[in-house]
Amino acid sequence: MKKIKFLFPVLMLIFFSCKNEEKKSEHTPQTENVEQLKVISSFSILTDIIKEIGKEKVDVHNLVPTGTDPHEYAPVPEDIKFASKADVFVYNGLNLEGGNQGWFFKLLQTVRADKNNLIKVSENVKPLYLSDKKGEKEINPHSFISPVVGLEMVNSIAKGLITADENNADFYKKNSEKYIEKLKNIEKKYREEFSKIPEEDRVFVASEQAFQYLTEEYNLKEGFIWAVDTEENGSPNQIKNTISFVKENNPPVLFVESNVDTRPMKTVSQETGIPVYAPAIFSDELGKPGKEADTYLKYLAYNLKHISKGLTRNAK
Ligand SMILES: [Zn+2]
Repeated sequence: MKKIKFLFPVLMLIFFSCKNEEKKSEHTPQTENVEQLKVISSFSILTDIIKEIGKEKVDVHNLVPTGTDPHEYAPVPEDIKFASKADVFVYNGLNLEGGNQGWFFKLLQTVRADKNNLIKVSENVKPLYLSDKKGEKEINPHSFISPVVGLEMVNSIAKGLITADENNADFYKKNSEKYIEKLKNIEKKYREEFSKIPEEDRVFVASEQAFQYLTEEYNLKEGFIWAVDTEENGSPNQIKNTISFVKENNPPVLFVESNVDTRPMKTVSQETGIPVYAPAIFSDELGKPGKEADTYLKYLAYNLKHISKGLTRNAK
């Protein structure tokens, strides 16, 4: 994504100059029910989990739309309007939304959000660090790709909703327990499927270094072209390093993600003879509504299916 931070003040002006105008709302359809808890969610994966736990008790407004990078985002007037009356603000943390100086915290400042109403879903997640920073440590924000982290996220969201809306505590608790059961089943399958892949084939290569929480959890060796989407993507030097990694580690396939330019990986493929696996897997976003991987549980199942198939040589 281009640097669009500068647009933020401009958008604010547009918002304040036309705030009386009714805009079509993108969030969950709501009746005139004033009882619903108003929840702001930074991106699609969190929005889906909040809906699963809060169901009809919550009115969720999703910020970063599918197809847009969550690392950098400029809230639109509709977002600011909803945020100004939101009860709870849910975000990933680990710098996914640009950290304390990023777009999400700017939005909180704009609407003077109460810090007590924040839910940081990575609260209990141990951060991992991007590896290509010389000397300085940069947190890898993509923890949600691992279902083990998913379990922590659900706990944090349930706890946050219960604190914000104690009257419905039992409702949130019951829904989160059901959801956690499904998530644990998927996690078990991750462990089983990856353990079947022979040691020498447990080499996972994708464009962005987004899968670190997954590869460390399930003992896969991770290769990538660039560390994080916001920086240089697919420079000749990055491609050269990936080619060396691929030649050295001989992965069964190369993966591309749904939200990246696939040309750099195609170059790596041409230079090494290792095929690019199709279809694309998912990292920073869910699939489009009604399409594959359009919920977090389906996203996890989809990635497992394709990653394990790709890493199994001669799989049909
Ligand atoms: Zn990313």
